[in-house]
Amino acid sequence: MTQDCSRLKFVSAFFFFPMRSLLGRVGLRYDISAIANAYYRKAFDRVPVADKAVILPHCLIGEKCKARFSKKDGVLCVNCKDCRCGEIRLLCEEKGWQFFISPSTNFTKRLVQRKGIRAAIGAACDFEIEKGIHSTPITLRGVRLKERKVIPQVIRMARYDCLNNDIDWERLRSMIRDGAGGLL
Ligand code: SF4
Repeated sequence: MTQDCSRLKFVSAFFFFPMRSLLGRVGLRYDISAIANAYYRKAFDRVPVADKAVILPHCLIGEKCKARFSKKDGVLCVNCKDCRCGEIRLLCEEKGWQFFISPSTNFTKRLVQRKGIRAAIGAACDFEIEKGIHSTPITLRGVRLKERKVIPQVIRMARYDCLNNDIDWERLRSMIRDGAGGLL
């Protein structure tokens, strides 16, 4: 798809988003995060790895999580293997990415400022994606989180649940290893 076409699709998807229930009734449904990911992908891949981060939500951590919490860095994973966040932390370290597990959206916004993050892979359920669209300025050059614009890639969570949630871990691994289009 050309960049112009991808931009048009992106702009239309956000413009029509408030009317999505109506559009759904006539059989027009679309995945807004997939459209946004596709639009931002090339710009995302151009950001140097040191300025990229994987920021996972706390709903992915295991019930017996051994991590401590830091007010500065969020959940400090020790790779206890009660969930798959630990293996992602190790992969990020190997590839030079930053890695965080965040307890909340507001924490994530502050983290992005503090760590100078320019591009981030996050995970969110449909409810959080919709909330984010209503509360966060989304521009052609990234999502504005306080003073900083960040180029996002979003992986949809398996369900709306703050406990033991799940994502496509293989896709996440491939995005870190091979670029944002990995495993598509
Ligand atoms: S792997 Fe890390 S995040 Fe997952 S449960 Fe263990 S310490 Fe917590």
